[in-house]
Amino acid sequence: MEIQVEHECPQCGAPIQFEETDRLLRCPYCDVQNFLFVRDYFRYVLPHKAPGREIIYAPYLRFKGSVYYCQGMNINYRVVDITNTGLFFKGIPDSLGLRPQAMKMKFVEPDTEGSFLRFTLQAKDIIARAGRFSEESSCGTLYHRAYIGETLSIIYLPLYEEKGRLFDAVLNRPIANLSKGGDTIGSAVNKNPRWMLSFIPTLCPVCGWNLKGERDSVILTCDNCYTAWEAHGGKFEQVRFFLVPAQGKNSIYLPFWKISAGIKGIEINSFADFIRFTNQPKAIKKEWETMGMSFWSPAFKIRPKIFLNLSKRLTITREQFHTEKTIKGKCLYPVTLPQAEAVQGMKLTLAGSTLNKKTILPLMPRIGFEIKKTTLVYLPFQETGQEMIQEHTKITINKNSLAFGRKL
Ligand SMILES: [Zn+2]
Ligand SMILES: [Zn+2]
Repeated sequence: MEIQVEHECPQCGAPIQFEETDRLLRCPYCDVQNFLFVRDYFRYVLPHKAPGREIIYAPYLRFKGSVYYCQGMNINYRVVDITNTGLFFKGIPDSLGLRPQAMKMKFVEPDTEGSFLRFTLQAKDIIARAGRFSEESSCGTLYHRAYIGETLSIIYLPLYEEKGRLFDAVLNRPIANLSKGGDTIGSAVNKNPRWMLSFIPTLCPVCGWNLKGERDSVILTCDNCYTAWEAHGGKFEQVRFFLVPAQGKNSIYLPFWKISAGIKGIEINSFADFIRFTNQPKAIKKEWETMGMSFWSPAFKIRPKIFLNLSKRLTITREQFHTEKTIKGKCLYPVTLPQAEAVQGMKLTLAGSTLNKKTILPLMPRIGFEIKKTTLVYLPFQETGQEMIQEHTKITINKNSLAFGRKL
């Protein structure tokens, strides 16, 4: 489900329309670019059609992302796309149905009028229920579960009370009778929420140049001083990055996270240990014995099966790339998966790389990582027909899968 949002440009006040996963807003009127940032969740309201009423907003959890399960002897995954009520109150619908698709949502701001009901259910229970597999595939012990690349937000449905009845303020239709003497809707109101939404101007903190990115980018780059930035805690933080120069012309650079880490809970202290433990059909080189472990992950959203496969192949390949920092004039594919999400994929990469799942899956709960260094690496790909081919490793990615990933 795709959701459209509308917001006024913080500079000129013109309405800007965008999608829920967009973070970089460029105003088509004044051309000013801002990065959107919230402390916890993005909160939206569905615009009501009941002017003059006292509006009460009911919260819905909005989750869109990939859920991975290590269960029994298998690694399963699925893409989950839900909106589900965040409180139990008789008569309030479980789901928003098609409403969010049919209308443009607005951000909740400090001056949004109305009262907001508290989100009282557990988000993780709602998502776990939605991501549950059918009986056949979900037998065996659940060893590990991970959510990767998710968009998690809260959508508020407007309601109002009239003569003991609760009305849906979008459709102006009664949805429930409020019981006399029982819990009133007023007791569930969240008093004084201080939800803030910030817009950060996208100027390079080092040189003041305009940072570059696409609407769904989570990392912005500076073409002037060759730096990369991730919005974190309300400001831009510098990210370590390299680019691997192309051998040919017209290459497209796809971003990957390379995470150097120590592994706790099992005996893997070097790349050689990793090759032995996972039982790769590969002759171990002497220098691998002293080489630390690095996990690779796509830094862009893509279907779970391809995400796992790319992570695994780049981690096992362990190509020694020649790197540089010049990005000017290079065609960089946007980073749409933050580094914190890539970190959550490390256990899955380890499990996916291990040929005998029986030896690895039961160990999952006690495996941990000590992250030493995270680097963003842009690898050159050549376009050929329907495929993109990595110039050094010959790893291929289907172009349609890349395009589809931007809708995840
Ligand atoms: Zn503007
Ligand atoms: Zn700069």
